Amino acid sequence: MSTPQDVELHHALQRIGNSRLPNTNIYNITDLTGRGRGFIALQDISKGTRILAEQALFTIENVPRGGRLSNTNRTHIINQVNVNGPHHAAFVELFCPGQGRPSLSRRFQANNFQMDRGTDRLQVQGIFLQASRFNHSCLPNAHFAYNDTTGCLTIHAIENIARGKEILVNYHQRECYRTRAQRHTDLSHYSFTCTCDSCLPDIPFGRSSDGRRSYMATLDGRIIHNENRYGPGDRDQLENDLNDLLRLIPMEGAFYIPLMDNYHRRADFFNEKWQATNSGALDTRKELSRRAMEDARRNLDLEVTCMGFDSPDVRETLNWLCGLECRGWA
Ligand SMILES: [Zn+2]
Repeated sequence: MSTPQDVELHHALQRIGNSRLPNTNIYNITDLTGRGRGFIALQDISKGTRILAEQALFTIENVPRGGRLSNTNRTHIINQVNVNGPHHAAFVELFCPGQGRPSLSRRFQANNFQMDRGTDRLQVQGIFLQASRFNHSCLPNAHFAYNDTTGCLTIHAIENIARGKEILVNYHQRECYRTRAQRHTDLSHYSFTCTCDSCLPDIPFGRSSDGRRSYMATLDGRIIHNENRYGPGDRDQLENDLNDLLRLIPMEGAFYIPLMDNYHRRADFFNEKWQATNSGALDTRKELSRRAMEDARRNLDLEVTCMGFDSPDVRETLNWLCGLECRGWA
């Protein structure tokens, strides 16, 4: 008999199976009063739908992580997009904030996407003409990811988006515990002021948002610190913190990357606890196995929603989940 999680997962896989190729009539680029241009849904878009799959105009390798472009990086960009370069016309149409005539490097930095490849110190970045035109929200309704299997950057709906609504992504979707002031400093590089509910201090949600995000950052730091510690109390602290964080994240909104990561962590935690529990304690072991599988399926369901079933991350998680399922849980 299927559990509710199995049914949920089945529906998620069906949704993605039906939407591997994006429907090109799904959105329109429209002028928004006082806010430049944005992508507006032309039809109701259901959660998990692939909105965009786009190949890079060009990429540059070996970009220092979190740092400035190297001289080699700059030369490569110039070769691609200077007036005689193959991508000049398309590239100079991209938005670039700031005064005066922007340099090619500045325009690159305002529009590039990290492609989740490279090494710990160096990464690959790419320019994607359509994807770079989506506007930001700290509470987005869409998620971007680079898919190494298809060579495309994808954007998926992470909630149902009604016709006429703007499709929004979080430019800093990996760093979502930042407070309002920290986020606005980052966004000032794009000459952009966010007016999502988290950024409005005068409404109840916005008033509690900063405190919630700061506490989540504390929990996240402590979880990473305690993940591989086995002293007295360390595992209890880890379990409490994971439970707290996974309770708070959905209250704040669309924090999909930490939600996926921490469901994965907690599934591993319950699996480890199951292994350490005496085989005589059958009820405890059953409960631990149930909770491990529940979190593993939640993790997979979110990944499928955010990245699509053809994502290498999803394949990896599916293999991990199958490994958990195959252990028998006796
Ligand atoms: Zn915001």
